[in-house]
Amino acid sequence: MTLPTKAYGTTGPTNPLAPITVERREPGKHDVFIKIHYCGICHSDVHQARGEWGNSIFPMVPGHEIAGTVERVGEAVSRFKVGDKVGVGCFVDSCRECSSCQDGLEQYCERGMNLTYNGYEKDGKTPTFGGYSTQIVVDENYVLRMPDNLSLKGAAPLLCAGVTTYSPLKYWQAGPGKRVAIVGLGGLGHMAVKLAAAMCAEVAVISHSPKKKEDALRLGAKKFYPSTNADTFTELANHFDIIINTVSVELDWNQYLNLLKRDGVMVLLGVPPQAPQVHAFSLISKRRSLVGSLIGGIQETQEMLDFCSQHGITADIEEISMEQCNGAYERMIKGDVQYRFVIDMLAFA
Ligand code: NAP
Ligand code: ZN
Ligand code: ZN
Repeated sequence: MTLPTKAYGTTGPTNPLAPITVERREPGKHDVFIKIHYCGICHSDVHQARGEWGNSIFPMVPGHEIAGTVERVGEAVSRFKVGDKVGVGCFVDSCRECSSCQDGLEQYCERGMNLTYNGYEKDGKTPTFGGYSTQIVVDENYVLRMPDNLSLKGAAPLLCAGVTTYSPLKYWQAGPGKRVAIVGLGGLGHMAVKLAAAMCAEVAVISHSPKKKEDALRLGAKKFYPSTNADTFTELANHFDIIINTVSVELDWNQYLNLLKRDGVMVLLGVPPQAPQVHAFSLISKRRSLVGSLIGGIQETQEMLDFCSQHGITADIEEISMEQCNGAYERMIKGDVQYRFVIDMLAFA
């Protein structure tokens, strides 16, 4: 038996999102059945719904910033009970055996994690459908506990934007005395500013939207630099320890690498559809590194949620109805979002 579920999805890269019904499995022994209250809109939803990465599976129900409450649990579930506030991020399972899974880095699973949408369940053939839907069934090991002191709608974006920025900031040791630049003040970027500031790093924002200056400073940045001003790139040469690049379109990465000090590191988080060129001199002249980072593992996601709970950090959101999602995609592409759209799934149910 399966559970028919109301959702919003798309049947092809040029089609809008529209109502669709998907089937959820009846919860098994280890499963948690979650009523979805809110789901954030990540730019990855736009890239994949529009087929921009060449890996899209249709029909697709996007959404991997899922926050809700437990409605039912399987008989062997020990970590959650009915009524708990829970979250689901970018993946709903992984092989659990490879070295990455063993190290709590399920996002780098050697056999490929089971994505929350645009992927397949463990059987390798049942497509997964994401959070633009009223309910979801997930193995308890891939469910997060949402902190009591944070609103579910403000915390939903932590499940992707939060952990995606927390993980590299922590790994490359953002902290006191470190100069960190966040490139692009969108969903990921604004979380990166809040998190890096809470880690006591010296935070700067580099943005192509000069009007975001006040917001950047309010969110915790000490400095704001418009990328539209050529002086930014001369003034800041050899300046930063860490650059977190969240931009979703192609940029001249060489220009940004040049802003790193000796041994500095630029972390790529944004996934532009085209591959920019990197000149060897941008790296070798100062022993700089160009690295990438993918979301975060389950344990680290829980650690990030607890960190946000301690520091009272949530996303700055604009709440929308499910029916407004196509307009939200267009606004996101134009950079017109402050700073994450979150869909009210309860109103859609
Ligand atoms: P977003 O909210 O749309 O933010 C992207 C930001 O990029 C914009 O706010 C804008 O900031 C900047 N930008 C947009 N268009 C630009 C342009 N034409 N020129 C220069 N800058 C531009 O998107 P998001 O949800 O934060 O996601 C950002 C990227 O990260 C996407 O590519 C997404 O797929 C990727 N992502 C990666 C991971 C991972 O695990 N690595 C996880 C989630 C998302 P300014 O206005 O401040 O310039
Ligand atoms: Zn995402
Ligand atoms: Zn694995």
